[in-house]
Amino acid sequence: MNLIALPAFADNYIWMIDDGAHAIVVDPGEPGPVAEALDARRLELAAILMTHYHADHVGGVDALRPRLKGPVYGPAHERVPEPSIGREEGDSAEALGLDFEVLDVPAHTAGHIAYFNRADAGEPIVFCGDTMFSAGCGKLFEGTAAQMYSSLGKLAQLPDATRVCCGHEYTLSNLRFAQAVEPANEDIARYQEHCQSLRAAGKPTLPSTIGRERRINPFLRCGEPAVIAAARAHGATSNSGSDVLAALRTWKNEFR
Ligand code: ZN
Ligand code: FE
Repeated sequence: MNLIALPAFADNYIWMIDDGAHAIVVDPGEPGPVAEALDARRLELAAILMTHYHADHVGGVDALRPRLKGPVYGPAHERVPEPSIGREEGDSAEALGLDFEVLDVPAHTAGHIAYFNRADAGEPIVFCGDTMFSAGCGKLFEGTAAQMYSSLGKLAQLPDATRVCCGHEYTLSNLRFAQAVEPANEDIARYQEHCQSLRAAGKPTLPSTIGRERRINPFLRCGEPAVIAAARAHGATSNSGSDVLAALRTWKNEFR
């Protein structure tokens, strides 16, 4: 199985996974990059997965339907392009012989879901939309810090080797914030250098892995003493994970 990040808009990625003849695309916010990739690789479009209803993730779905030969899956509790098969935690989404477990990961949007494939595509893989970014997390548009803490906790429990496919290329700016939170974390400094050279070469920094995110993503490290101390200095009212995350999220919103 091939996994490719198709750049869209200014900083979105539409993820495509293919077996050489058929492809699944995730969060096609616009149709153009998908149509070009399918044509260039002579792939049939076998399924579309949607993680949440935002236009930069679903805006291309209807335009792709004429060439779609299979299902559209999406969050059961959000208004998304129809027809689609609504999914929530405990459900699975099947396409291309792959079985994706669905996780509820609310907070960026109230009904946001993620798709996790454990084994049959090589290393495990998760499509997490705008819930987790490399070294960061989504904004809390429709949820609380406690919900984001719980949603990120579900993702953090996936196997270390899980490839993390996020909806946006925000890694370098997230890493500047991660450095401010944990200046002594050498994994962050090393990863920052690595990502700078990838971006300089015009390449995506994604997918990341769950193992790496656990080492460098401040929002997955709300129990680390250094992260707690930094959050307490930026308004966290207790050492609880959700209070630490709330303070980090507010701090990050103002961070330049
Ligand atoms: Zn979004
Ligand atoms: Fe987005």
